[in-house]
Amino acid sequence: MNIIIFGAPGSGKGTQSKILANKYKLHQLSTGDLLRNEIKNKTEIGNNIDKIISQGNFVGDDIVNNLLEKLITKSSFRNKIIFDGYPRNISQANSLELILNRDNQSINFIFSLNVIRDIVEKRILGRLVCEKCNKTLNEFLNKNDVDSHECGTKYLRKRSDDNSEFIVKRFDEYINKTKPVLDFYSKRSYFHEIDGTQKIQVITDKIEQILNA
Ligand code: AMP
Repeated sequence: MNIIIFGAPGSGKGTQSKILANKYKLHQLSTGDLLRNEIKNKTEIGNNIDKIISQGNFVGDDIVNNLLEKLITKSSFRNKIIFDGYPRNISQANSLELILNRDNQSINFIFSLNVIRDIVEKRILGRLVCEKCNKTLNEFLNKNDVDSHECGTKYLRKRSDDNSEFIVKRFDEYINKTKPVLDFYSKRSYFHEIDGTQKIQVITDKIEQILNA
């Protein structure tokens, strides 16, 4: 089963992808995580994209498509993928169709998490990611979870693009470039819109209901 999860920055797509990947034994392909890893490892790609990401712009399609193609067609990943953050524009959606068709794979479910900008701002500004276990927490919304995090608080970091200056930019990038991708997929029978303003567990339950139907 291959799944795509769409949602604006802060919509909870990463959180839901992680939960579903664990439960259904899928591979979470987060382009954001893959790109941040390149930056962390100071690779050539990483050095070129550091500023692009921290200013809320999209990284070039060639870089993203190349990073992904190798993983999508890897035998252990085939038909066991959750796409988190890809495709993000029409050109990437076309590339994904090509890669999957060539490799005899298809998309089985698409979920779009709908949120409004006000909620997203609070989620993004409070977001902390554990460098050790990659869990995402929120210092405004669940302070207790932050204080009692099992790896300790010293590994908790803010993402460089999670600042008020670039939130609006990232939201606008999503609306301008990614919304047309939703129109591209929205007529398919396996496309589902989900209210992303609800609690994490409520959203997971809703997605699972559809997956298990
Ligand atoms: P995310 O972790 O999904 O919020 O992505 C963080 C940032 O990584 C985005 O704001 C973009 O700068 C970059 N990024 C992630 N996925 C893509 C993609 N599919 N295409 C271009 N840039 C991306």
